[in-house]
Amino acid sequence: MKTLKDFDFKDKKAIIRVDFNVPLDENFNVTDATRIEAAKPTIDAILAQGGSVILMSHLGRPKGVEDKYSLKHILEKTSEILNVPVKFASNCVGQEATSAATSLKAGEVLLLENLRFHKEEEEGDIAFAKELASLGDIYVNDAFGTAHRAHASTTIIAQFFQDKKCFGLLLTKEIESLNKVLKNSKKPVTAVLGGSKVSSKITVIENILDKVDHMIIGGGMTFTFVKALGGKIGDSICEDDKQELALEILKLAKEKGVQIHIPVDVVAANAFANDAKTQIVDVDKIPDGWQGLDAGPKSLENFKKVIMESKTILWNGPLGVFEMPNFANGTVELGNFIADATAHGAFSLVGGGDSVAAVKQFGLEDKVSYVSTGGGAMLEMLEGKVLPGIAAILD
Ligand code: AMP
Repeated sequence: MKTLKDFDFKDKKAIIRVDFNVPLDENFNVTDATRIEAAKPTIDAILAQGGSVILMSHLGRPKGVEDKYSLKHILEKTSEILNVPVKFASNCVGQEATSAATSLKAGEVLLLENLRFHKEEEEGDIAFAKELASLGDIYVNDAFGTAHRAHASTTIIAQFFQDKKCFGLLLTKEIESLNKVLKNSKKPVTAVLGGSKVSSKITVIENILDKVDHMIIGGGMTFTFVKALGGKIGDSICEDDKQELALEILKLAKEKGVQIHIPVDVVAANAFANDAKTQIVDVDKIPDGWQGLDAGPKSLENFKKVIMESKTILWNGPLGVFEMPNFANGTVELGNFIADATAHGAFSLVGGGDSVAAVKQFGLEDKVSYVSTGGGAMLEMLEGKVLPGIAAILD
């Protein structure tokens, strides 16, 4: 696995695929610069060696050229974070990009306009990738969020660099962290899978059953399992057509010696609303007209024991409807248990859109070992897939 340390960047132009797909407000101010900050160590390291940097990214999902998706909006913020004036090319390929790249001197940074202004990017067009490749000497991929896409800048471009390509520091950390869970994990290993649907997590569950000792299943998924086992779930969310699958998972887990932990009690509400009436009930005795929206106190006590005994913890998906404060307790508490276990030496990895949002919202980001930057990419790795962006560097 080639990383930054395998290269000397002095007087070389590094063309880096970053993920600067950051949120902007209506005045085009960057409202969350986490992704720009996350790429800084890689950029700094190359500049410090006397190299120069060409940054390429997508922003949003433009249909052709759309000003609101221009990366010029993030130029000032990027300069501020990198602490160097960043140059800009208003087209990622063509004359302007070529001459800006050619005249780039050691220590300088150039940001290219949104890659997705060209449909060739998402099509994985070879000629377009070759044009991008012509701008730099060494290709660095530091965008985990798009590593599961075989786009021109994330995958196809790599073939033009033969042995002059590597992972950036961020992507290296992502891969190492996932390997700590999936490959070289310290036992016992616990996966916590929450979220709304069994159907969106099923491939992950199946793949990681071979790698974990405990699996905590929470959130909306709970009720498909409980109903399949003959429980009364009231009006809770449920995928009836996945009940058989749920039973199969339980059987498979038993065969593999994986202990499955499902909530035993829930906070049930009489409506899907923060100000609904609530009561704590057994998970298999939810009255009609009521729905389970969070894990109850006995469940949390059980989960705490499992988490505190674990040496490796993977967390994907909330335990309840954490967006509503009255149903956030389970998710907050789970985050606290994981933080506590981490303080006692466990390795913890949090990933997948909603759990990352939860960890940030509850201020636990620095209390877990690693927070993944790629939702879909991380899920695909957990599903056991080889990501094209990663394979292209390893080739
Ligand atoms: P996912 O995108 O599959 O990880 O699901 C995340 C969503 O699941 C969040 O928006 C939660 O509000 C939702 N969720 C978690 N628990 C429940 C539940 N008991 N009932 C309905 N939705 C839930």
